Amino acid sequence: MPHSPFNTLTRFTPPGQTEVLFYSLPTLAAAEIGNVPRLPVSLRIVLEALLRHCDGQRVSERHILELAEWQPRARRSEEIPFVVARVVLQDFTGVPLLCDLAAMRQVAQTRGLDPRRIEPLVPVDLVVDHSVQVDYYGTPQALQQNMTLEFDRNRERYQFMKWGMQAFKTFRVVPPGVGIVHQVNLEHLFHGVRQQTMGAVENGRTGERLCFPDTLVGTDSHTTMINAVGVVGWGVGGIEAEAAMLGQPVYFLTPDVVGVELSGHLREGVTATDLVLTVTELLRREKVVGTFVEYFGEGASTLSVTDRATLANMAPEYGATMGFFPVDEKTVDYMRRSGRSEADCVLFEAYFRAQGLFGMPRAGQIDYSRTVRLDLASIAPSLAGPKRPQDRIALPEMASRFNTLLSAAESADGFARPPETLRQRYATERPGIDLGHGDVLIAAITSCTNTSNPAVMIAAGLLAKKAVDKGLRVQPHIKTSLAPGSRVVTDYLEKAGLLAPLAKLGFALAGYGCTTCIGNAGDLDPAFNQAITEHQLVVAAVLSGNRNFEARIHPNLRANFLASPPLVVAFAIAGRVNIDLDSEALGHGADGQPVYLREIWPSSQEIDAVLPFALDPETFRRRYADVGADQDLWKAIPAPAGEVYDWPPSTYIARPPFFELPTQLAGDLRGARALLILGDSVTTDHISPAGSFSENTPAGQWLTQQGVKRVDFNSYGARRGHHEVMMRGTFANVRLRNLMLPADAEGRQPQGGYTLLDGQQTTVFAAAMHHLERGTPTLIFAGEEYGTGSSRDWAAKGTRLLGVRAVIARSYERIHRANLVGMGVLPLQFVADDSVTSLGLRGDETFDILGIGPSLLPMQALTLVIERANGERSEHPLLCRIDTAIEVSYYRSGGILPYVLGELLGAPAGNTTDPLLQA
Ligand code: SF4
Repeated sequence: MPHSPFNTLTRFTPPGQTEVLFYSLPTLAAAEIGNVPRLPVSLRIVLEALLRHCDGQRVSERHILELAEWQPRARRSEEIPFVVARVVLQDFTGVPLLCDLAAMRQVAQTRGLDPRRIEPLVPVDLVVDHSVQVDYYGTPQALQQNMTLEFDRNRERYQFMKWGMQAFKTFRVVPPGVGIVHQVNLEHLFHGVRQQTMGAVENGRTGERLCFPDTLVGTDSHTTMINAVGVVGWGVGGIEAEAAMLGQPVYFLTPDVVGVELSGHLREGVTATDLVLTVTELLRREKVVGTFVEYFGEGASTLSVTDRATLANMAPEYGATMGFFPVDEKTVDYMRRSGRSEADCVLFEAYFRAQGLFGMPRAGQIDYSRTVRLDLASIAPSLAGPKRPQDRIALPEMASRFNTLLSAAESADGFARPPETLRQRYATERPGIDLGHGDVLIAAITSCTNTSNPAVMIAAGLLAKKAVDKGLRVQPHIKTSLAPGSRVVTDYLEKAGLLAPLAKLGFALAGYGCTTCIGNAGDLDPAFNQAITEHQLVVAAVLSGNRNFEARIHPNLRANFLASPPLVVAFAIAGRVNIDLDSEALGHGADGQPVYLREIWPSSQEIDAVLPFALDPETFRRRYADVGADQDLWKAIPAPAGEVYDWPPSTYIARPPFFELPTQLAGDLRGARALLILGDSVTTDHISPAGSFSENTPAGQWLTQQGVKRVDFNSYGARRGHHEVMMRGTFANVRLRNLMLPADAEGRQPQGGYTLLDGQQTTVFAAAMHHLERGTPTLIFAGEEYGTGSSRDWAAKGTRLLGVRAVIARSYERIHRANLVGMGVLPLQFVADDSVTSLGLRGDETFDILGIGPSLLPMQALTLVIERANGERSEHPLLCRIDTAIEVSYYRSGGILPYVLGELLGAPAGNTTDPLLQA
């Protein structure tokens, strides 16, 4: 086994420290392998990981050579096996992952093995941030009241996490009430270069320190925020994260790298939020989907690390895998100011210098696939909306844009309301409060995107202070909230005297967590809900978040605008979004005089004067010294003990059945039936919805049978630790269109989680169980881009538990295809122009899939045999979208989880007897 590929394992001595080992990129360059010094910095960090993990099996010298010889504009077909240094989780995705680990331990115990053999091989941090909701707001008690409710709702999940904390050495939990995962990652979990003490096997270098760059994957798409400090990492689904934590590489297609050259400086009054909304618009237009974006140039070096974090955070919105910033002096300075140890700071800088990776690259130094240029001086104050983050609107155009969209057709992204209703007001049951189109109903300072950035948070506080001084008020119909991603934020706002004026305007502290950003805005006053629905009002949310799809923030808010925290406060004062804040007054002061935004907008000098409060190392050290020690609600949760979880009765947490399932096909599939026939762009949310559900759904009915009241259903997202809920929720989205169902009299396709069974309409869950009981294999047919949208592991897990053996689609979203393989479901692809329509599929056919033998190969050709109801038979080619050799191994084992379990325990985990094959 090569321990020093290309003799790259070498030494350097950081100033004032002892000598350390590292895998040297300059040594690789000196060997004239590829053109390492001109590779994008992000790729060089991945290259280092390949050198370090080169074992001739998972990672080979071929992988190193391929990446070292990366060509900027080559056709991409090779996958890179990337072993990451750590994993971060949020609680919605972390709980099911912990369930799987607990189930693996139980399998080990059942086999008479030590359950402690199941242990994450890299550090795992779960930050509980997704569960807090803004039920209370605008009062000093709101924080405590919201947290009390959160703990009432989530007690069973939190108990389970506490079991995980004591059961696994490498699994840590940042409890509720501390912050948001990406901000906590930036402020605390990241601490520079990682180190490992070499064991006896590593070339006899026992006891020596090996240094390597921090890298990670996280189960939240905005994991990219950590790219701001030179960390390579991005969001993945729970299945890949699980494999990563158990030492498996994350496989990804060799990417194109788009260089974004920033020049100039942001102008006075322009914020990092304005910048990121402009970049999102620009890079969407530039089609950077699936690429690494790497920032460079003079302008990039002028940005603070927290401004860079805002830009990196929204990489998913501009479609990139990462929004990466190389390490420079600003990065090291941020580490010092945020309380990292001096030894960590010195080692970090010395390591990146030794690797030739220190400093912001300038034009011409690096070969990118292509370069996009942006002058920072061209950025203007902006919002984005009302439905997509890439739809930027310059601040002075808000009124005209909203008013146009109000009556524009839905096909033109409008709201199709009669133009004559634009100025109409409608009474509500609240005395003295009427509503109209364009009114702001929710104003939220929320989301790690912006709350991690002191400049915009201080600007919000200063603007609030000036507004209060002028006697301005927020309109009474607006639900206002402040929910930062760490307690450091409230510390510095308080020290600067800015927390009180924010609270005075209604932006009282409501929680430390995702809140409105993830749709946990809480409900509106019923009187307002009634007026909105009765008069079909197009009312708005203004939030400092990153996503604004219709109904994401609240089901009754159709127009959602992303904006900087100071603009959130400004629009809350104005009370409506159809206002031109350049020419119209925000409101009237205590003296009756109109007050304009420009009068209270803070200058950069004023912001800079307060910034030192936000970059006080002592505050960071104090706040993160012992996270959770001062969280009484968390401490009061009992912690179950033991190495193996005993699965007490719960409707939130249950032992997942993935390790008891039969492995999937080892031969041809015969006699299959269609469970669903779907169209194009079926999203993972169609497959596995995350939101709330009614008592009429299979999941609701099951919970009702367990004695759970409707009010306590919570959401699919919060119940991802229980497969009985989640499999019933699979394909239960109310917007799902199954083409098997006959259209109604007006030719409309019915929507919802339904299918046909023996000609009768029934739920997808009921039909799937019927087929499973009879041993009938099932298939799903679909169009283009199957599984698009957020990576969601339950979309594949649920498909598997419904007994689906294969999906046959025109094309796949990359991660969902991999997740299907990871769960042992065959992703197959129509060939040439074949499709559901061209083959005339109706759902009453019987199908065989031929060619799946024991020697199945990646991308193998297979045959679909269709037998129609009239007995007619036809054959059609299919492409097996198991793309790589490792995926064949996963598939044979019944998925990644049984495969990894088999590796750890030394034997396959799945039940190799497949009852369906005998049918
Ligand atoms: S605040 Fe928003 S972007 Fe940040 S972790 Fe939470 S949901 Fe994701």
